[in-house]
Amino acid sequence: MDAPDPHTIRATVQAQRGAMETLFAQLRQDGLDEPGVSRDPYGAGEQRAHATVTQAAEALGLEIGHDDAANLYLTLPGRDRSAPVLVIGSHLDSVPHGGNFDGAAGVLAGLAVVASFRRLGLTPDRDIVVMGIRAEESVWFQVSYIGSRGSLGTLPEGALDVPRVDTGRTLADHIAACGGNPDALRAGSRHFDPARIHAYLELHIEQAPNLVEAGRSVAICTGIPGNIRYPDARIEGRHDHVGLPRRFRHDAAMAGAEFAMAMESLWVEHEGRGIPMACTFGRFHTDPAAHGLTIVPGAFHFSLDVRAYDEAVLTELEASIGRIINGIEQRRAVRFHPGPTARAAPGRVDVAIKAGLEAAAQRQGISVLQIGSPASHDAAAFGAAGVPMGMVFVRNTNGSHNPDEMMEIDDFLDGVAVMTEWVCSATGPVCYLAKPVIA
Ligand SMILES: [Zn+2]
Repeated sequence: MDAPDPHTIRATVQAQRGAMETLFAQLRQDGLDEPGVSRDPYGAGEQRAHATVTQAAEALGLEIGHDDAANLYLTLPGRDRSAPVLVIGSHLDSVPHGGNFDGAAGVLAGLAVVASFRRLGLTPDRDIVVMGIRAEESVWFQVSYIGSRGSLGTLPEGALDVPRVDTGRTLADHIAACGGNPDALRAGSRHFDPARIHAYLELHIEQAPNLVEAGRSVAICTGIPGNIRYPDARIEGRHDHVGLPRRFRHDAAMAGAEFAMAMESLWVEHEGRGIPMACTFGRFHTDPAAHGLTIVPGAFHFSLDVRAYDEAVLTELEASIGRIINGIEQRRAVRFHPGPTARAAPGRVDVAIKAGLEAAAQRQGISVLQIGSPASHDAAAFGAAGVPMGMVFVRNTNGSHNPDEMMEIDDFLDGVAVMTEWVCSATGPVCYLAKPVIA
């Protein structure tokens, strides 16, 4: 039987409004940590979000499962249970004092899609798995995509031994405390064979104001940046008296300042060539315990995130950073210690999924933008593992990673309508009517 017409899909998605509003309100309550919400990964905040989402899935009669990384899987069984599955997911953790929508909106969108299938009485041709992903926000463990890479068996070497910045306990410890099995992860276990995933789809609030500026509700993602990160870099100079002439100094703070300005020049130069990238210094400071008004700083500390949409650009940036550092070391008689670096590959959006989402939006009468993601997302981890992936962004005012993120429920439902429309076609053509559910 044919997939339902766009009007029926839209009305069914709209009917989820009340349930979704209630879920968002419950998640806010679960994570409340004024200002904003804190859903600490493998901690109490994230656990409460998992419990709320699990309860909603039980009400929908979904199959509930977990893996060794304690990710959450909520499955709407398909007609052919051996067919590669469609995964719709996002993360349920947040930054400390973040907003209510970064991550959670994507998990609720997955629930709204399968709830629509239930309401329409549709059985997909393959399992649709809504995934509540653990620990995406790298501010806590300074490792990116922990949950998604844990599910794919692609966690980087040593990740399990990294301490959470606030508790000091290792990732392995935290995973075990939440019912996961770090020993199995260490031994190379994985939940997903990438070949067994038909596609990965993620809805996320936009983290830049492109949609706000354009006055539209939804965008289709064109790519996710990869990054190189230096979470704990420092510059070694020499403490000296402030009266010291410049030529005798080994001023670590000035070296840091020159490095930052050189990085911005590099960015401006890339902008001029039409190559998108970004660089951000998170920490940027002398040591207040060692430095004062009358001491030339002998040490300077920073963290740096450099991102781009192309692996070759990242490699070229890494080489440029090396050249910049060499130059500053020579001129200023200081020494850079980059410390451990972490690298995440860019996420390539599947061309067919992107085109399919655009066509779905058109059928839904929703005019979409096409934008590159400014931020990293779990979708990139699936893409890097060879899974065809796509993303839908929803308008969000006031940025993200702050308590003021603001997503309107109407915009969210537009995003869900685009996804549901696409899922109805993408899990077809044998998407057919089973026994209708009266709801
Ligand atoms: Zn996010």
